[in-house]
Order: sequence, then C-alpha cells, then structure tokens
Amino acid sequence: MDEQKQLEAIEKIVRENLAIIGEDVNREGLQKTPRRVARSMLALTSGYSMDAAAILNSAKFAENCDKMIVVKDIEFYSLCEHHILPFFGKAHIAYIPNGYIVGLSKLPRIVNVFSRRLQVQERLTQEICQCIQETLNAQGVMVVLEAQHLCMQMRGVEKQGAITVTREYTGLFAQDATLRQEFLNMINH
Ligand code: ZN
Repeated sequence: MDEQKQLEAIEKIVRENLAIIGEDVNREGLQKTPRRVARSMLALTSGYSMDAAAILNSAKFAENCDKMIVVKDIEFYSLCEHHILPFFGKAHIAYIPNGYIVGLSKLPRIVNVFSRRLQVQERLTQEICQCIQETLNAQGVMVVLEAQHLCMQMRGVEKQGAITVTREYTGLFAQDATLRQEFLNMINH
C-alpha cells in the first residue's frame, strides 16, 4: 500500500474511533487530528522499511582493536505491541570487535530502526544485539535497555516510575561474567 493510501486508511479508522468514544469529530480541535495521528503512526513505525544490517555495513572498517567499545545512554522511543503505548528510555551497547569496527553514530541509528516498530522490550534488546553480532561477526556483544512503559504507568497497575531492565549478550560476554560486570559498571549512574 502506498503512503497516501495508508494515511487515508488510518485517518478513516481514527475518525471512527473518536466517534465511538463519544467525541464530536467535527469540533475544531479534532478536525485535523485523524490525519495527524495517521502521520505520527507511520513515523513511529518507520523502522519496518529500514535495513539495520545495511546501515552497519555502510560504515564497517577493518581495524585491529580487541577491546570493549561502549556507546551508552542512547535515548530511544518505541511502542509496546500489546497496547500501542510508548515505552522509552536508554539503550547501552558494548561490543568487542573481531577485525571490524563500525562508525559510532550507526549504533544509535540501528536502535532507532528496531525501536520504530511495534515491539516488546525483550525482543527489541535481542534484535539490536543479534544485528551487531551478525553484521560485525564480533567476539561479543552486550545490550542493556532501561525503559519506562506508559502502558504500566497510565493504566493497569499504575506503577509510576518503575524501570524495566533487559539484557542480551553473546560470545565473550556470555562466557565471562567479569566482562559483563565491567560493562555494567561503566553504565551505572
Ligand atoms: Zn503494553
């Protein structure tokens, strides 16, 4: 479906939803809301049409470095697939190269690629980790995500400010607990 058709289809459904909850869809403040919601929905799910491996491959350089490389405090925003409400927080990435390093700005970019989809935090963590592992053939990758979920905070249990932490690791990080601890120490605030 092309983008114009997608926008029109989402717009129609949003208008119907507003009427179902008892809103006057023609009042001034809501007139352009269905179109805005449709645009924002497409933007927040734009990661489906992006190729994270291609982004990493576009800035992959041969380099003899075998020490841990860390990019921490990467802000991310995603949508939980159960409620289509935001979850957001910080991503922290470490990898140990195996002949190749990657341009550092590409790591936040692939976080965006995977977070701009309907997600669960667990899978988001895995997808970022696997993509770096496979594309760089790294000696090890570790990813930690810390996030707040609006589906928990605005509804349901209403646990304000609870932080969900997920971890995924491969290779040397899986074999060596002290390496994991070294990374966790670096990201501890
Ligand atoms: Zn949820």
